[in-house]
Amino acid sequence: TFEKFRKTSRVSVDIGGTLIKVVYSSVMDDELPEEKNGQKRKYAYEDGKRVLVNFKKFTDLDRLINFLREVWTDRKAGDVIHCTGGGSYKYSEIIMKELGVRLQRTDEMRSLIYGVNFLLSTNVDESFTYHHDAIGLNKFQYRPIAADLIYPFLLVNIGTGISILKVDSPTSYERVGGSSMGGGTFMGLGSLLTPAQNFDELLEMANKGDHRNVDKLVSDIYGGSYDELKLKADLIAGSMAKCNRFGETPKKQVHKPEDIAKSLLLMVSNNIGQMAYLYGTRYNLKRIYFGGYFIRQDPITMRTLSFAINYWSRGEIEALYLKHEGYLGAMGSFLDEEG
Ligand code: ADP
Repeated sequence: TFEKFRKTSRVSVDIGGTLIKVVYSSVMDDELPEEKNGQKRKYAYEDGKRVLVNFKKFTDLDRLINFLREVWTDRKAGDVIHCTGGGSYKYSEIIMKELGVRLQRTDEMRSLIYGVNFLLSTNVDESFTYHHDAIGLNKFQYRPIAADLIYPFLLVNIGTGISILKVDSPTSYERVGGSSMGGGTFMGLGSLLTPAQNFDELLEMANKGDHRNVDKLVSDIYGGSYDELKLKADLIAGSMAKCNRFGETPKKQVHKPEDIAKSLLLMVSNNIGQMAYLYGTRYNLKRIYFGGYFIRQDPITMRTLSFAINYWSRGEIEALYLKHEGYLGAMGSFLDEEG
């Protein structure tokens, strides 16, 4: 590890309903190899020195504080920790006390937009469209965008819950909607309905499952497609509707957790896709960026969202994903000077 050659110079945290995201910069005294995992490293520069921007997530505050104590060794009383998300209110006292620094809060929506704006305007490979039927790396098509063409767009941030923002410029935006059926719902119901022990296990299960064993499809009801309404045979008519055991005594659960997890993931992401499409049309926006830690660049999630947007808009609206999907707020707070 190269930690010993680094000096932390700037720290921001985004404390949400589930995860704590940290962005921190390290000034390099020594040079790191030019490549990491086959990709060229990107540096920023501060006073002529190379600065590396790091991204990390935590599931609890104690771990975050221990980590920051370890990497931010030369912090002083006057130093600032940038902070956003609900925890920037709830935990401000503890953070200041434990780290002995000042806390500068950035509004959550402002952080999100600042983050997206910065990432889109500086990173050519930040945003991409997803094409499930393409082969290998062709599934991901990068969509660099000129700084003057970025606005307007719709931002759908899928965290514990969902926020939907109509964004006209870095300083002009509005939270136009949201939903409580987001990543927290997927995890909560997944934890109730399957033996999965964490998010990754649940997602892995979903990727192995077959939802047709638990969902009622149009074909289960009509015997085939329902042509008058142009409903295809394999369309989901009722999520988890095959799990109904009312009338059976004793009730027997006959479904595989993998199938339930898949159905759950489809239910949540189909719903988000349809909602995103409706907001996109309502405000006449042609690009929808999806952010938040829920996405995890998962193939089922991205396929479902892209399919919904493409299908309903007849190809008029584009669903775009972001490489730093989970760190938009933390990134924006990191950059914010005013607080
Ligand atoms: P928030 O700011 O509300 O915490 P995030 O954007 O961090 O929102 O997303 C949280 C969601 O991300 C969780 O509800 C869960 O669905 C998903 N998620 C992805 N990976 C993980 C993980 N390793 N641990 C917990 N949740 C995860």
